[in-house]
Amino acid sequence: MSATPKQYDVSNTPWTKEWQELPLRSDVRVGAYMKSSRTGVTEGALNILRWMPENWPGNALYSITSDKKAREIVDRRMLTTMSAGVLSADPKDTGLSRISLDSMDMVFSGSGSADPFQEIWYRLIILDEIENHVKNQETTTYKRARSRQTDVPDGLVLAIAKPELAGGIIDEIFISGTQKKFLIPCPRCERLIELRTDHLVVEGCYEGGEWDLARVVTETYYQCQLCHGRIEEKEKRSMVNSDLARQVPTPPSERRRSPSGKYVPPEPGVESYHISDLYSLHERVSWGELKQMHLLAHVINPTQEAKKYFRINHEGWPWEDEVYSVTAESVKALKAGRVEDVKVSNADGTETIIKTTLAPLCLLTDHNGDPRNPVFYMPIRTGSLRPIAVQACLDHHDC
Ligand SMILES: [Zn+2]
Repeated sequence: MSATPKQYDVSNTPWTKEWQELPLRSDVRVGAYMKSSRTGVTEGALNILRWMPENWPGNALYSITSDKKAREIVDRRMLTTMSAGVLSADPKDTGLSRISLDSMDMVFSGSGSADPFQEIWYRLIILDEIENHVKNQETTTYKRARSRQTDVPDGLVLAIAKPELAGGIIDEIFISGTQKKFLIPCPRCERLIELRTDHLVVEGCYEGGEWDLARVVTETYYQCQLCHGRIEEKEKRSMVNSDLARQVPTPPSERRRSPSGKYVPPEPGVESYHISDLYSLHERVSWGELKQMHLLAHVINPTQEAKKYFRINHEGWPWEDEVYSVTAESVKALKAGRVEDVKVSNADGTETIIKTTLAPLCLLTDHNGDPRNPVFYMPIRTGSLRPIAVQACLDHHDC
């Protein structure tokens, strides 16, 4: 797909290349991107809109949280970047909620309005910032969009958001799809890796009980998880733009599960993607800047809020308040009801001691037709039952 005029350069966000080609794939009905803050995914979706009039005409709906935001998108990002030929063809209406062209209408709307979903048929529906869309009458814009397209043979719904809590709408759609990650070649061993925060390394910047954060910003490097080779920030652009880089579906054994711990198989026709700021070429989220922010949130002045902010905004993963990974041993001990203190690993890698207000573990296996997916419930503090995802324990049938 050709990029539009002027400013759009896909080499700045190469993980949106496959995303922008989804309209060309008849097998795909839904694309979903769970993303961090600076990743150009929305711009990639807008680029599809710009490309449509001349290449894939058909009505399109762009829905974002509020009417105000929708108008801003039209004003600042669409009208200024649409090709002049298209806009001058027959600009019947370039009001800020609709761009009417000869070949198609583009409707821009706040998520609280049901009207656009009842109006006309759409080949493309973009649901931006879907995590914060208004819910009406027990339904979501995602459900509306999908039912709106049941009769459109090559219709496509694109959902985009930073996640919030685990199990939120973007997490749910991500889980239901292919769960693709952007794997890029390590310049040292040439094998494909997923960039992850725990492999950002900095040395010698902690002396006399103090961090030298200026040095953290400039000296942090990425250590390949496969060969342990050192990768510099300046190598990132060529890594993400390498011909070897690709979107790879998460294998079944590693697929993200629903908050209840249940395995969800990929639904045919749903391509879902994840991207984090570790891939971003924006200088404000360089590896050094991210390492500094991570140290501040997790080590120097750790708070739940700061950790949550980093996870959502920079790692692009949902926050998991109450999900612990419990070991087989702690589960066995809990089941026996003998344990006073239980050490559990939190999602962020730290450990917490849970005190003995715990009754013996209530083990309720919820097989859901799949004996590999037991779900354990544990009374926490309030005495209410909360599900815990227990992956470490799956092979212990006696648990
Ligand atoms: Zn390597």
